[in-house]
Amino acid sequence: DELVSQIAAGEVVERPASVVRELVDNALDAGATQVTVRLLAGGVRLISIEDDGCGIAREELPLALRRHATSKIGSLSDLESVATMGFRGEALAAIASVSELHLLSRTAGQASAFLLDASSGELRPAARATGTTVEVKELFFSTPARRKFLKSDATEFAHCLEAVRRHALARPDVGFAVWHEGKLSEQWRAATREQRLADVLGEDFLADSVAIDFAAGPLRVRGRAGIPDAARSRADWQFAYVNGRYVRDKVITHAARSAYEDLLHGQRQPVYALHLEIDPARVDVNVHPTKIEVRFRDSREVHQAVRRAMESALSAPRA
Ligand code: ADP
Ligand code: MG
Repeated sequence: DELVSQIAAGEVVERPASVVRELVDNALDAGATQVTVRLLAGGVRLISIEDDGCGIAREELPLALRRHATSKIGSLSDLESVATMGFRGEALAAIASVSELHLLSRTAGQASAFLLDASSGELRPAARATGTTVEVKELFFSTPARRKFLKSDATEFAHCLEAVRRHALARPDVGFAVWHEGKLSEQWRAATREQRLADVLGEDFLADSVAIDFAAGPLRVRGRAGIPDAARSRADWQFAYVNGRYVRDKVITHAARSAYEDLLHGQRQPVYALHLEIDPARVDVNVHPTKIEVRFRDSREVHQAVRRAMESALSAPRA
């Protein structure tokens, strides 16, 4: 079973940033208003994620680590309308199988917190306010072949930061802080959507972009698109979200590119942050264990909506 878990972990946990993504997903699903990420050595030595969410009850701590145990959906049909980031119940089990994992949590009703050591199974009372801290140490220590594929600490840290940035753009109502090697690297306080964009991508991005707000039938597209002649555009700033979930999707990417087709002269990448809202029954999020890919029931409809949303935003006269 240990081996099966480690193989499954390979699909979910590729590098420290994958752990960060899954744990922040969990914090957000738990209703956190503040998420603090602490990393050592790019996350390889330590990833600690602290939230002020609902916590996990003492008797449920061991369950949270069990494979395919999720508290988030009750049946297959719930998958049709899944509103939480997680639903597969795989992440914690997978991460625990390739690291030293500690789960420290307290629900509002409990007199104390409890700490579970995943490797020994030991469970003991501990001190903490309501919420959860997950500590992941020595990632891939038992699978040196995987550990060898990791890049420098600086590169792994950059990927971790990118993972938090993606969440931060999706959830401006939540505060985020990222520490690396004991130093505060980024801090984004709860803000409006616009302010969060400015905080995360820089004031320049706000000045160099136009607002998108477009509705087409069951679809709504909102966000901002960088204006094509802005000098400061960054090649890797294409953020796309479907119902609040960060995705990498060919349909969206292609639609965005085609909206810019005659504007960028094929030279540079467009820069954008796009939020699609779509009837959950029209999109399948259970395509891949990392949930970063989605499948639309009608991808033409999505393509058209994204393209039109961006074209009309880019062609509107600017104030
Ligand atoms: P999933 O998110 O798909 O349900 P996970 O393996 O990520 O699966 O988490 C397993 C379970 O542990 C969750 O369903 C949830 O009940 C609990 N859990 C994990 N992290 C947290 C957290 N930060 N706060 C509250 N509950 C959590
Ligand atoms: Mg999860």
